[in-house]
Amino acid sequence: MSHPHPELGAPPKLPRNGLRVVALGGLGEVGRNMAVLEHRGKLLVIDCGVLFPEEHQPGVDVILPDFTFIRDRLQDIVGIVLTHGHEDHIGAVPYLLRERGDIPVYGSRLTLGLLTAKLKEHRIKPVTNQVKEGDRRSVGPFDCEFIAVNHSIPDGLAVAVRTAAGLVLHTGDFKMDQFPLDDRLTDLRAFARLGDEGVDLFMVDSTNAEVPGFTTAERDLTPAIQTVFRTAPGRVVVSSFASHVHRIQQVIDAAYEHKRKVAFVGRSMVRNMGIASELGYLKVPRGLVVDAKELDNLPSNKVTLVCTGSQGEPMAALSRMANRDHQIRIGEGDTVLLASSLIPGNENAVSRVINGLTRWGAKVVHQGNAKVHVSGHASAGELVYCYNLIKPRNVMPVHGEWRHLRANADLAISTGMDPARVPVVDDGVVVDLVDGKATVTGKVRAGYVYVSGGTVGDVTEELLRDRVTLSQQGTVTVVAIVDTQTGSLAEPPDFVARGLGTDEAMFEGAIPAIEKVLSGAAKDGIGDPAELEQRIGKAVSQWAARKHRRNPLVIPVVIEA
Ligand SMILES: [Zn+2]
Repeated sequence: MSHPHPELGAPPKLPRNGLRVVALGGLGEVGRNMAVLEHRGKLLVIDCGVLFPEEHQPGVDVILPDFTFIRDRLQDIVGIVLTHGHEDHIGAVPYLLRERGDIPVYGSRLTLGLLTAKLKEHRIKPVTNQVKEGDRRSVGPFDCEFIAVNHSIPDGLAVAVRTAAGLVLHTGDFKMDQFPLDDRLTDLRAFARLGDEGVDLFMVDSTNAEVPGFTTAERDLTPAIQTVFRTAPGRVVVSSFASHVHRIQQVIDAAYEHKRKVAFVGRSMVRNMGIASELGYLKVPRGLVVDAKELDNLPSNKVTLVCTGSQGEPMAALSRMANRDHQIRIGEGDTVLLASSLIPGNENAVSRVINGLTRWGAKVVHQGNAKVHVSGHASAGELVYCYNLIKPRNVMPVHGEWRHLRANADLAISTGMDPARVPVVDDGVVVDLVDGKATVTGKVRAGYVYVSGGTVGDVTEELLRDRVTLSQQGTVTVVAIVDTQTGSLAEPPDFVARGLGTDEAMFEGAIPAIEKVLSGAAKDGIGDPAELEQRIGKAVSQWAARKHRRNPLVIPVVIEA
């Protein structure tokens, strides 16, 4: 088993008959999926998504892959292949196209529909190539074949990439629902055919590798959804991902059957459902969907609202309803259905939303108390089927946290694969496929790039640490007027504290420490205010930690006397 080591350096030159694979995201995290394939000097990008921030990343909108590895070689990129339309697979495309706008993008009809709408908001008109299952396209030296897979969004594709170095099969996100709502099965016959041809590197979705058995069919949710619609005394409010067309189709069908109208709430939900129904992926009976404003004229038991916020995202409609910060006032008689998975890490936020809604009198139906969700990803049983069906020569687990990648690798090994041919690697680790064997050969930069309030890459790890300190420990500003020649204070420093819950006078105890730093600096001939600020900041931080067990963010300001 190969492990990424911090000492891995830049990779060697790739042999002419070799294929290089580098994931710039998606390995070690659930999100920002992006793989770069390199062959004969050309690059093919598979997916380019965003990662959503967690609570320790305040003020961050989304997190992008780091494009440093490909930035100097933008002209070598022959195409971007998108496996499906989820944000964690297409969300970073606008940022890559900002760097080079004419990179051809390949994807299915729905994927490109969602992408084009997103790019419109960024005022980018992409060069698109629509493909469907069974299609084969030459993209530079990469011969790409597209294969149907099912997932929690319609129109997903796996991609088989043939080069002189061998055949790579990338599943995208997938599961093997045998009774999909749109009857579009994951094409196991194609997987088997590719297996016969010989799959040299199999890149496999790991998200659910820890879950034993098989992922339940979407159809099995129908009874629980029906129960909600049959028994709800008042409004039904459904929260789901804005891309989960099949789940929302089930809601629409149930609403129609129980003679309720449906209104979509929230910009992304309205936009995506508009695209999905325009393109025929969402089937809506005429007159069923109405504008949210029209609902006021209907009795509450004729109303269905469909909104986002199933992950407890603070700005989404459902969280705002739970906080009474939305024009839709949740109350007695309302039934709220959380019809989507709980992404790890969001448990607390979702629990807050459930409590908030319950407090206003709503009944909340969620995956903890009803069968209202199935996953979009293949479980262990399905993955094992794939390994046995395809018999790949090398396996590279993708899409998942470290534990998911590891579990997926173990599944591959359990089917008899040589562990040396199952590299489990992090973002940025270089895997070269040469003479039929995949080997770790180096590492490239693959850090987080933060989008925050319209800026890209300006927010650093250090700044985020400051934000967290600020929010948890408060801040104290120290203003010192200093004679930089002698290192003496012209007058006692000013202390301004925020969020500390303590008297600012407390900090006067730090003055001796500041004086000591200043006289020491003067002896060393240091008078540069920026350097003095750094030293004062450190001294006050240490003093506050030692004397008062406080760790506020200290902002030193030195003014020359
Ligand atoms: Zn997905």
